This record gives sequence, C-alpha cells and structure tokens, in this order.
Amino acid sequence: SNKGKVAIIGSGLIGRCWSVLFSSAGYNVALYDTVASQLSTALTSIEAQLCDMESKGLMRVDGMTAQKALQLVSSFDDLQKAVDGALYVQECTPENVDLKKKVFANLDSFVTSDKTILASSTSCLVPSKFTESLTHRKQCIVAHPVITVSFIPGGGGDLVKSCVSTCYPEPSKLTRNGYILRDLLSQYNPQKNPNYGINPPYYVPLVEIVPAPWTDSDVVDRTVALMKEIGQAPVVTKKEVNGFIFNRLQYAIIMEAWRLVEDGVCSPEDVETTITEGLGLRYSLIGPFETMQLNANGIRDYCERYGANIKHVCEEQGGPRSLSGETLDKLEKELNQTMPLEQLNERRSLRDKRLAALAIHRQHE
Ligand code: NAD
Repeated sequence: SNKGKVAIIGSGLIGRCWSVLFSSAGYNVALYDTVASQLSTALTSIEAQLCDMESKGLMRVDGMTAQKALQLVSSFDDLQKAVDGALYVQECTPENVDLKKKVFANLDSFVTSDKTILASSTSCLVPSKFTESLTHRKQCIVAHPVITVSFIPGGGGDLVKSCVSTCYPEPSKLTRNGYILRDLLSQYNPQKNPNYGINPPYYVPLVEIVPAPWTDSDVVDRTVALMKEIGQAPVVTKKEVNGFIFNRLQYAIIMEAWRLVEDGVCSPEDVETTITEGLGLRYSLIGPFETMQLNANGIRDYCERYGANIKHVCEEQGGPRSLSGETLDKLEKELNQTMPLEQLNERRSLRDKRLAALAIHRQHE
C-alpha cells in the first residue's frame, strides 16, 4: 500500500479492532504482540471482522475488500521491526500504568523519526502518567476508541455465524468454512478466552484524542486528520482530565438515573424509556448545544428563558452518590427480572444488530 505503515502494539480485542480499521482504509498494518498465540488468533478474528464489515457495505475506502485488507496485515514478534518506518503507532496493551510506561519506553528507544506518532488506546490513563521522561514525549498522545465490550462467557457465536453466512455461504466451500469455524471456535473457547463478543468500533466511530501538556500541536492535528481519514470521529481534550469527554458525560447521566431511582421519583424502567423513546433519539442526531440553539431563538434566548430553572434543578440533584446499598439491591432485583443474566447474550446480539443497522442507515443518509 502506498498509504504507509501503521504499527499496532498488542493484538487483543482493541488491537484487532484498530487493525481492521486501518487495513480497511488501505494502510499497511504491522501487528505486534508478546504472546504468539494471541497473534495467530488475531488474524482469524480480523478476517472475520473484515468480512462482516464488507458484507454490510462498511469498508472505509472504495474498492476495498476484506481479502485485500487482510493482505495488508502482517504479524510481528519483534517490536523494533514492527515499528520500523511506521508513521503511526497505536499501543493496545493491557490497562496498567507500569506496563504502559515500559512499552512506551521501548517504543521511545526504537522510534527513529521525530514525525512518528506514538498513540495509546488507554481508556482511563492521562498520557502524562506514562510519557513524561521519554525523549520523544512530544510525539505521544492518547487516542481512545469508544468501544462497548460485552463480557460474554464463551461468546462470539454470532461473529462465527455472521462470518460464515456472509463470506462463505456455499456448502461447497466447506473446507474454508471448516477452517474459519475451527479457528474462531478455538479462539472463543470460554475457558481460554472468556471476554469476547464485541460491539465493533466501526459502529461507534468516536475516538477521544488526549494530548499530554508536552504533546506537539502538530501531533494532535495529524492524529485528528488520520482518524478522520480512516472514518472515525475524533474529539480533542484541551487539557488532561479524568474520564476524558465521553465518560464524563456518560457518568453524569448514570448518576442522575441513580438519584431518580434512589429518591423514589420513578422506576428504573421509566428511566430506560425516557432515554430510548426520548432523549436518546434526539442525541443520536444532535447534541446538547444544538438542542439549546434550536429549542429557543438561539442559545442566548434559551439560557435567558431556562437557565435559572436548569441551575435550580441541578442544585436539587445534588452531588454524587455511592453506587451501592439498597438502591443497588433494588436495581439488581428488577434488572435481573426484566433482563435475566441467562438472556444477556441474546440482548447483546440484538444491541449489536441494531447498532450495525444504525451505522448502515447513517452511512447512506
Ligand atoms: P486485551 O487484554 O484484549 O489485549 C491486550 C493484548 O496486549 C494481549 O494480546 C496481550 O498479549 C498483549 N500484550 C501484553 N503485554 C504486551 C507487551 N508488552 N507488548 C505487546 N503486547 C502485549 O486488552 P484490550 O481490551 O484490547 O485493551 C487494550 C487497551 O485498550 C487498554 O489500554 C484498554 O484500556 C484500552 N481500551 C479497551 C477498550 C475495551 O472495551 N476493551 C475500549 C477502549 C480502550
């Protein structure tokens, strides 16, 4: 590929997702892991995800196929070779600050160009926690993909089914089917690998870009441009903050949902309905600021009309509560009745199917 090379460090759930995204956009992907078995199952999983994406018309560039994209992915057991000549490195190792420090120190020593971007997928760590002492610290940044992961014991069945039925539909191709099935099934062995079943990142395009105080502004700009190019939707924090942007908003909603139930205002079910039949419908199209702009004659008018009341209601909401105690007992009892634990896999598949349908709808809008 003449687009250049991207290195993915860690071939677990997130490393695989990034490999799918970059290869489907035409980048050469060098995938590195310290565990050889992870790398080999990663390639099978990447193929399945690419097939699924192709079948839904969600490849990132015109003319790209799952097979072409797969050919752009190579696996490496040598970190230095994996990052050699890469324009962008996406670290996807487990969420542990000491490990990130170690991996970034290695990356720092192997990177030869002052142009290479060193990005971390970390969900919770601000980049200054693991990049401060590096020679190339100006090139370091967080690029956090927003992926909802289902913890499905022995999950992955749907991925297997969808891959087999979409890519290899004919019984005459049974050898291929058998191969794919065997590999996927071994990968999704519940004893070996309990944590799979994913909501692929290409259905949820958001990526949070979090620079450290010392990150070059050019690195921020180039990371944003690259994310857009591969079809993701980047947002940028102007300073380091816990929870980044997505989780700060999400936690505000979770906390108020909790208070509404704890204070006996409404049932958990009615909180759900308020989101799914109301607020959520709007929020998949416009955010809070456009809402303010549209719901009055511009945002100033909105604030003048409703600002005092909003402030008053927010004061009444009060501070954070601990997510435990009687309210938790009550929520657990109700949720386990309406969504029994044995049926979670089914509901997850339904959620993923709907998200895929929404992504397709938005693509063709
Ligand atoms: P994972 O456990 O599925 O994969 C981690 C991979 O890293 C494994 O394959 C492991 O063998 C490999 N690894 C371990 N040490 C390594 C090393 N020194 N060098 C190279 N590879 C090494 O984890 P994951 O869910 O893919 O998460 C990776 C990162 O992405 C974490 O920082 C996590 O917080 C972040 N993230 C996760 C999610 C999610 O929903 N899982 C979402 C967004 C971001």
